[in-house]
Amino acid sequence: MLPPPTEMRCENVVCDAHLADMRPVKVKHGMHLYASLLEGFARCPVGACTRFFGAEGYCDLTRDGDFTNIRTEPYCSIQHEPQPMYIQRAPDRLQWVCPICKAVAPFHR
Ligand SMILES: [Zn+2]
Ligand SMILES: [Zn+2]
Repeated sequence: MLPPPTEMRCENVVCDAHLADMRPVKVKHGMHLYASLLEGFARCPVGACTRFFGAEGYCDLTRDGDFTNIRTEPYCSIQHEPQPMYIQRAPDRLQWVCPICKAVAPFHR
């Protein structure tokens, strides 16, 4: 059997607060020496939205590079550690998708 996938791959991610399209970004998380560069999705076009989607799920990214209002549900636990899912814009609907194994769950507002 193949080992379970561990890399995140996201497509057409939308903001969980505004359901608007987000774009791939690299952000700095943490301060100074402890800062690390994280890949994820952000830049929701709505006003001053600070939502970010990364490995830990959706969260607000503060000016200091901290995460607040972390949303870990729903999560996927098929073949891997529980992984927060993201909302994907599919051609005719929105759906929750696991960024690792691509499992899909229905999205309700
Ligand atoms: Zn937003
Ligand atoms: Zn999964």
